[in-house]
Amino acid sequence: MYTVPDLNEYLSDPIQQTADLLTALHEEAEAVRTESDWKVFRDRWMARKGGILAQVNDLWLRAAPPDRKREAGKRVNDLKARVEKKVEDSLQGLRAGVPAAHAGSERLDITLPGIHRPIGAEHPIIKTMNEIVAVFRNLGYSVQEGPEIETDYYNFESLNFPPNHPARDTQDTLFIANQQTKALREQLLLRTHTSPVQIRTMEKIKPPIRIVIPGKVYRNDPPDASHSPMFHQIEGLAVDTNITFGDLKGTLDHAMKAFFGSSVKTSFRPSFFPFTEPSAELMVSCFVCGGSGRRGSDPCRPCKQTGWIEILGCGMVDPNVFEFVKDNGYDPSKVSGFAFGMGADRIALLKYGVDDLQLFFQNDVRFLRQFA
Ligand SMILES: [Zn+2]
Repeated sequence: MYTVPDLNEYLSDPIQQTADLLTALHEEAEAVRTESDWKVFRDRWMARKGGILAQVNDLWLRAAPPDRKREAGKRVNDLKARVEKKVEDSLQGLRAGVPAAHAGSERLDITLPGIHRPIGAEHPIIKTMNEIVAVFRNLGYSVQEGPEIETDYYNFESLNFPPNHPARDTQDTLFIANQQTKALREQLLLRTHTSPVQIRTMEKIKPPIRIVIPGKVYRNDPPDASHSPMFHQIEGLAVDTNITFGDLKGTLDHAMKAFFGSSVKTSFRPSFFPFTEPSAELMVSCFVCGGSGRRGSDPCRPCKQTGWIEILGCGMVDPNVFEFVKDNGYDPSKVSGFAFGMGADRIALLKYGVDDLQLFFQNDVRFLRQFA
C-alpha cells in the first residue's frame, strides 16, 4: 500500500517521488470495481483530513524549505488536478461500465515524468581503494596491476619466502588443483598478496620506480565478520638510489594524514616480513576516538581502547629480493627502496564504521546505497 514519503525523501528526488505517487494512483484506480470501492478510493486520496493529497500538501509543500517551495507548489498543484480528475473519471467509468483504467478522456500522457533509472555508484571498497590510490598518485606514483592467478615463483620464491614457509601451506593458500607434477616454482595459485606485481614491474621497468598496486587477493580463510577468502590490498613500492627509512616514514606519514585527516598521528613498530628488512607496522592514532581510547563513557571498539589502529605493514626492500631482478638494474649495492601493503577492506570497515565485512560482499543494495 502506497504511503507518502517524508519531505527529505521527496526533496532527494522529486521527479521519482511524483512518479511513484502517480503510479499508485493509477493502480488503485484500476482496482475500483464497485461504488463502495470508489468511495474508499476517493476518501483515501482526497479526504481533507489524512487523505493522500492532504498529506502531500503538508509533507512536501508546507514543510518545504523556502528555496524549494515554488517548485514543490507547482508539483503539488499539478498532482491535485490529476488526482481529482482520476477520481472523477473513475466514477464516470464505473457508471458507464468502462474499466477504470480506460475511463474518461485519458490518453497517453507524454508530460508524465519518465521512469527514473538510478545510475550506479562506486562500491564502498572500490571507493576507499580509489581514494588511497589517489593519495599516492598525487605523490607521483603510477598504478600497476597483475594477474590474480600466479606462480609460486612470483607469489613466494622471488619475495624471499623460504621453501618451508607456512604461507606456502594449503592451510593458507588456495592452489590450483592437479599440479603436483610441475616444479614448485611453476605451480599455480591464487595470489595471496599483491606483492608479485612488485617483481613483475621491476622485471619490466628499470629503476627509479614509484608504483602503487591495488587488487584482489585470496587466502584459504572461511568468511566471517573480519575475514573473506577474497579481499583487497593496496601495496606500494619505491626504488631509487639512496632511499632510506626516513623516506618511508615521511611518505607514509603524509599519506595517512592525506587519507584520514591532518590531525592523525603515526607510529611505527618493529615487525617481520620475508621481503623487507627492517620491517615495521604502521599505526595511526584512532580517528574514531581521537586517540583517547574512549567514546564518551564507552570504550572505543575500533582501537580496542588503545588509541591506535594498525593500518599497514612496511619496510625496506630486502636486498635478497633485488637479487631476482638484478639484471634489470636493481643491483642491491646501488639501489634501495621501501614497500608497504595494506588491506583496503579493513580500512573501509573502519572508515564507514561497519562491523561485518560480509556486508560488503553480499551486495544488498539497501546496505550499499548508504555509501553512494
Ligand atoms: Zn579509538
